[in-house]
Amino acid sequence: MGNNTILVIEDNELNMKLVRGLLSLGNYPMLEATDAEAGIQMAHKHHPNLILMDIQLPGMDGLEATKIISTDVDLKDIPIIALTSYAMQGDEEKAKLAGCSDYITKPIDTRNFLEIIGKFLKNDLKSDDRP
Ligand code: MN
Repeated sequence: MGNNTILVIEDNELNMKLVRGLLSLGNYPMLEATDAEAGIQMAHKHHPNLILMDIQLPGMDGLEATKIISTDVDLKDIPIIALTSYAMQGDEEKAKLAGCSDYITKPIDTRNFLEIIGKFLKNDLKSDDRP
């Protein structure tokens, strides 16, 4: 895959659609999984540069999946950004404890979404802004 490939693990179709639209604005190649097990498999197969991890997933939740990925010798270098629900207070802290580098609160604020993920990637669109 490219240098800025992002794996999105999200079971909610509308959230996935929104993220897909935003990532296409940033020209980021995107991989999609709708549950943790499939996401972990994809991470092994494609070794993405960043993972966006929904915390609330059917079956294995995003916290457990983050612990698995962040302690896997082949995957632990991949930063993980948690997608946490505004209603679930405390998820941000749990996400960081599980191994997430940052979090984005849902509903997703489209204005700062690309800025947050850009911190973890080389975004060609932003190269002009750099000193
Ligand atoms: Mn979910």
